[in-house]
Amino acid sequence: MFKPKAIYFEKEILDYPLGKELMDKYNDILKFEIESHNNIEEMRKNPNKEFPNMKRNLIIGIRKTHKFVENHKTSDYLVPYTSSGCTASCMYCYLVCNYNKCAYLRLFVNREKMLEKIIKTSEKSERELTFEIGSNSDMVLENTITNNLVWTIENFKNVKKGHLTFPTKFDMVEPILPLDHQGKITVRMSVNPEDIINRVEFGTSRLKGRIEAINKLKEAGYKIGILIAPVILVDNWQNLYKELIQTLNQQLSEKVKKDVFFEIIFMTYSYVHTKINEEAFPNAINLYDKELMTGRGRGKYCYRKDVRGEAEVFIREQMHKYFPNNKIEYIV
Ligand code: SF4
Repeated sequence: MFKPKAIYFEKEILDYPLGKELMDKYNDILKFEIESHNNIEEMRKNPNKEFPNMKRNLIIGIRKTHKFVENHKTSDYLVPYTSSGCTASCMYCYLVCNYNKCAYLRLFVNREKMLEKIIKTSEKSERELTFEIGSNSDMVLENTITNNLVWTIENFKNVKKGHLTFPTKFDMVEPILPLDHQGKITVRMSVNPEDIINRVEFGTSRLKGRIEAINKLKEAGYKIGILIAPVILVDNWQNLYKELIQTLNQQLSEKVKKDVFFEIIFMTYSYVHTKINEEAFPNAINLYDKELMTGRGRGKYCYRKDVRGEAEVFIREQMHKYFPNNKIEYIV
């Protein structure tokens, strides 16, 4: 269970039930009032090596921007929701790229307003829309602190139209298993070989736990997707990903295998990641591989086209062998 080292809060959170609840819950934790969750000067000035320590704090504020971003993958809109950032430290996390050192967990207590906008948009639409509520954070992790996933599912279940979806790397799904979700929720579990989880995805759930969580969620009637993401071309990657796909085939329940869909995403990386990681995690693997990667502008890197193409063929072959009847929504 995450216990924050300190809480930084905007005083307006006390006007919201969840704000009050969180302040009570953490009444014994050191607290600092801040003007804005977007600009905490002492955090901004911290050196890169402080990154893991900063992730031990909790920032609580009000979300002010509520702009939906169109999406054309497994949802129609990416929705800014009840949190951003995370207590874990995956070395490639794209939130680090967006917020630099501010990828610590920020909670937003004006959840009624955010869910209301989703519901209104959904009910006004002529077609069924899917809203991605986990693109800025991890809702399963956040739920252990705020119970927001339970609250969201309970308040969304009777909406006339629409679906919610979110990805996760965590296995703490027990609180949502008994809920009456009315088939409106798709959980997309993100997996990687255990060796990569150990070396790169610090603070997330083990592969075994993630697979067990998928099986339980399916039993509870949730729609399930699996993200093999991000694919990282470390030495020996062929064996690692082949074993991962075999393990999924062996350990997923028949019910899951019947209709689970996949998304496969190759890792992208950046200069910002390299700088933060080499100071914050000096003994960790360097994910920037100059032999295999190429620049794609603004300090970002991706795998070279030929390297990625070869890896895609390999992964498609393995998927065809072990999951011949399951849809791969996309490989990017
Ligand atoms: S679990 Fe997700 S949000 Fe958290 S650090 Fe890893 S990639 Fe980022």
